[in-house]
Amino acid sequence: MHQAGVSALTQLLQYPPPEEDHRPLPCSCGHSAHYKELRSKTLLTVLGAVQLTRPYYLCAHCATGQYPVDVELGIAGLESSPGVRRMEAVVGGEMPFALGCEPMKVLAGLDIPAKAVERAAEAIGAQIARRDEHEIARAKQLVLPLVSKQNIPEMYVLMDGVQVPVVPAETEGRTGRAEDQRARTRECELGCVFTQTCVDHEGWAIRDSDSTTYVGAIETAEEFGFRLYSEAWRRGWEWAKLKVVIGTGGR
Ligand SMILES: [Zn+2]
Repeated sequence: MHQAGVSALTQLLQYPPPEEDHRPLPCSCGHSAHYKELRSKTLLTVLGAVQLTRPYYLCAHCATGQYPVDVELGIAGLESSPGVRRMEAVVGGEMPFALGCEPMKVLAGLDIPAKAVERAAEAIGAQIARRDEHEIARAKQLVLPLVSKQNIPEMYVLMDGVQVPVVPAETEGRTGRAEDQRARTRECELGCVFTQTCVDHEGWAIRDSDSTTYVGAIETAEEFGFRLYSEAWRRGWEWAKLKVVIGTGGR
């Protein structure tokens, strides 16, 4: 069935050359890119490797080429489809990249090098990080998203941090804990948010199952505070009747 899908998809991905009276495309240099020829590339999809043929445009001024179809399909400069990259990111987020090749083979029938799993996971991770940074920056300005009213009897926020040893390149430009000393460690912070509604037969509070979300980062406690606050806020902090924060007493 995957092979049948590959045949069908390959046929769908044969784009014709543009009409005779097509307009040139704008180029980032300010000039225009003109249609040059049809070009093919192999693309790995969830069905397998397919052949994509689409128009290629070239700017005579700056010699930059572009494929409008690739942008439309979300594969500009990439060798795998969004579907495959999603799988790679999920697998790469759950296990070491090299081990990720095995489930890709067994579950999806795809032969993928560990490097591809790493690239996809890192790229999507970077996108998530940028989105988080944006939310945290807004939280600092007290521009918080609207969170619909919820019935939360008790919400807990837990946090802790630890100094992790790192290679010199990771501490460049940072000062150590003692003055005039190069930093050899960086702060690694972890926090979680969960709710509690019941107690056990002895009256001890029980965490609601599946209610925990985590945030973690290698950053200072101050930066992390905003990250954790954003997460608690997203979970409905403002609606919690009882708010509990547990830390280790560190700064
Ligand atoms: Zn150009």
